[in-house]
Amino acid sequence: MEQPDHYSVLGVAPTATHEEIKRAYHALSRKIHPDRQPAAGASSGDVAFHQLSVAWEALGDEARRRAYDKQQSARRNKARGVVQDEIDLDEMAFDEDARTYTFPCRCSGSYSISEDDLGLGRDIAPCTDCSLKIRVLYEAVSDDSGGGDGAP
Ligand SMILES: [Zn+2]
Repeated sequence: MEQPDHYSVLGVAPTATHEEIKRAYHALSRKIHPDRQPAAGASSGDVAFHQLSVAWEALGDEARRRAYDKQQSARRNKARGVVQDEIDLDEMAFDEDARTYTFPCRCSGSYSISEDDLGLGRDIAPCTDCSLKIRVLYEAVSDDSGGGDGAP
Protein backbone atom coordinates (compact mmCIF):
# COMPACT_ATOMS: atom_id res chain seq x y z
CA MET A 1 0.00 0.00 0.00
CA GLU A 2 1.34 3.39 -0.88
CA GLN A 3 1.73 6.00 1.79
CA PRO A 4 -0.15 9.14 0.77
CA ASP A 5 1.63 12.45 0.62
CA HIS A 6 2.63 13.41 4.17
CA TYR A 7 1.40 16.96 3.76
CA SER A 8 -2.05 15.90 2.69
CA VAL A 9 -2.22 13.42 5.57
CA LEU A 10 -1.60 16.32 7.94
CA GLY A 11 -3.85 18.60 5.92
CA VAL A 12 -1.21 21.28 5.55
CA ALA A 13 0.42 22.95 2.58
CA PRO A 14 3.93 21.90 1.58
CA THR A 15 4.95 25.44 2.48
CA ALA A 16 3.57 25.16 6.01
CA THR A 17 5.83 26.20 8.85
CA HIS A 18 7.08 23.78 11.46
CA GLU A 19 4.59 25.24 13.95
CA GLU A 20 1.68 24.72 11.59
CA ILE A 21 2.71 21.14 10.98
CA LYS A 22 3.04 20.53 14.69
CA ARG A 23 -0.37 22.03 15.41
CA ALA A 24 -1.96 20.00 12.63
CA TYR A 25 -0.36 16.83 13.95
CA HIS A 26 -1.52 17.37 17.51
CA ALA A 27 -5.04 18.29 16.46
CA LEU A 28 -5.34 15.27 14.20
CA SER A 29 -3.76 12.82 16.60
CA ARG A 30 -6.25 13.83 19.28
CA LYS A 31 -9.06 13.40 16.78
CA ILE A 32 -8.15 10.05 15.26
CA HIS A 33 -6.20 8.34 18.02
CA PRO A 34 -7.24 4.65 18.07
CA ASP A 35 -8.05 4.86 21.78
CA ARG A 36 -10.69 7.44 21.00
CA GLN A 37 -12.29 5.55 18.17
CA PRO A 38 -15.35 3.43 18.85
CA ALA A 39 -14.44 -0.27 18.89
CA ALA A 40 -16.44 -0.97 15.77
CA GLY A 41 -14.57 -0.22 12.56
CA ALA A 42 -11.48 0.80 14.44
CA SER A 43 -9.20 -0.53 11.74
CA SER A 44 -9.68 2.42 9.42
CA GLY A 45 -8.81 4.70 12.31
CA ASP A 46 -5.68 2.65 12.92
CA VAL A 47 -4.58 3.09 9.34
CA ALA A 48 -5.19 6.82 9.49
CA PHE A 49 -3.35 7.09 12.77
CA HIS A 50 -0.45 5.08 11.42
CA GLN A 51 -0.23 7.33 8.37
CA LEU A 52 -0.37 10.35 10.62
CA SER A 53 2.48 9.02 12.74
CA VAL A 54 4.60 8.32 9.68
CA ALA A 55 3.84 11.77 8.27
CA TRP A 56 4.74 13.45 11.54
CA GLU A 57 7.94 11.46 11.82
CA ALA A 58 8.98 12.63 8.37
CA LEU A 59 7.89 16.25 8.65
CA GLY A 60 8.32 16.97 12.36
CA ASP A 61 12.08 17.00 11.99
CA GLU A 62 13.67 19.73 9.87
CA ALA A 63 16.38 17.55 8.35
CA ARG A 64 14.02 14.69 7.60
CA ARG A 65 11.50 17.11 6.16
CA ARG A 66 14.11 18.55 3.78
CA ALA A 67 15.05 15.04 2.71
CA TYR A 68 11.40 14.20 2.14
CA ASP A 69 10.82 17.38 0.12
CA LYS A 70 13.79 16.55 -2.05
CA GLN A 71 12.59 13.02 -2.55
CA GLN A 72 9.10 14.23 -3.45
CA SER A 73 10.32 16.75 -6.00
CA ALA A 74 12.61 14.14 -7.54
CA ARG A 75 9.61 11.82 -7.83
CA ARG A 76 7.51 14.54 -9.44
CA ASN A 77 10.29 15.42 -11.83
CA LYS A 78 10.66 11.83 -12.84
CA ALA A 79 6.93 11.52 -13.46
CA ARG A 80 7.02 14.63 -15.59
CA GLY A 81 10.16 13.52 -17.39
CA VAL A 82 11.76 16.78 -16.52
CA VAL A 83 14.86 18.06 -18.25
CA GLN A 84 17.91 17.13 -16.24
CA ASP A 85 20.36 19.53 -17.75
CA GLU A 86 21.05 21.86 -20.63
CA ILE A 87 23.94 21.00 -22.88
CA ASP A 88 25.35 23.03 -25.70
CA LEU A 89 25.28 21.22 -29.00
CA ASP A 90 28.99 21.96 -29.38
CA GLU A 91 29.67 19.81 -26.32
CA MET A 92 27.95 16.80 -27.79
CA ALA A 93 29.67 14.13 -29.82
CA PHE A 94 28.45 13.66 -33.37
CA ASP A 95 28.03 10.18 -34.73
CA GLU A 96 28.62 10.44 -38.48
CA ASP A 97 27.00 7.11 -39.29
CA ALA A 98 23.83 7.57 -37.26
CA ARG A 99 23.70 11.34 -37.90
CA THR A 100 23.09 11.64 -34.19
CA TYR A 101 24.45 13.82 -31.43
CA THR A 102 25.20 12.09 -28.15
CA PHE A 103 26.27 13.13 -24.70
CA PRO A 104 27.20 10.79 -21.84
CA CYS A 105 24.54 10.37 -19.15
CA ARG A 106 25.54 9.76 -15.56
CA CYS A 107 23.80 6.37 -15.73
CA SER A 108 26.54 5.26 -18.17
CA GLY A 109 24.03 5.41 -20.98
CA SER A 110 23.92 8.42 -23.26
CA TYR A 111 21.57 11.17 -24.30
CA SER A 112 20.96 11.18 -27.99
CA ILE A 113 19.21 13.35 -30.52
CA SER A 114 19.32 12.94 -34.26
CA GLU A 115 20.09 15.56 -36.83
CA ASP A 116 16.56 15.10 -38.12
CA ASP A 117 15.10 15.89 -34.70
CA LEU A 118 17.13 19.06 -34.53
CA GLY A 119 16.03 19.95 -38.03
CA LEU A 120 12.44 19.65 -36.85
CA GLY A 121 13.15 22.09 -34.07
CA ARG A 122 13.26 19.48 -31.33
CA ASP A 123 15.71 20.10 -28.53
CA ILE A 124 15.04 17.36 -25.99
CA ALA A 125 17.50 14.49 -25.99
CA PRO A 126 16.35 11.52 -23.91
CA CYS A 127 18.81 9.08 -22.41
CA THR A 128 18.81 5.73 -24.14
CA ASP A 129 19.16 3.85 -20.85
CA CYS A 130 17.24 5.80 -18.23
CA SER A 131 14.44 8.32 -17.91
CA LEU A 132 16.62 11.43 -17.81
CA LYS A 133 16.55 14.01 -20.56
CA ILE A 134 18.59 17.02 -21.50
CA ARG A 135 17.75 20.13 -23.44
CA VAL A 136 20.11 20.72 -26.32
CA LEU A 137 21.08 24.34 -26.77
CA TYR A 138 21.74 25.32 -30.34
CA GLU A 139 21.09 28.13 -32.72
CA ALA A 140 18.79 27.29 -35.54
CA VAL A 141 20.75 27.71 -38.73
CA SER A 142 18.79 27.69 -41.93
CA ASP A 143 20.52 26.38 -45.03
CA ASP A 144 19.66 29.32 -47.19
CA SER A 145 21.10 31.99 -44.97
CA GLY A 146 23.66 33.38 -47.34
CA GLY A 147 26.63 35.37 -46.14
CA GLY A 148 25.07 38.54 -47.45
CA ASP A 149 27.17 38.72 -50.55
CA GLY A 150 24.61 36.88 -52.63
CA ALA A 151 22.31 39.39 -54.23
CA PRO A 152 18.58 38.65 -54.03
ZN1 LIG B 1 20.79 7.81 -18.38
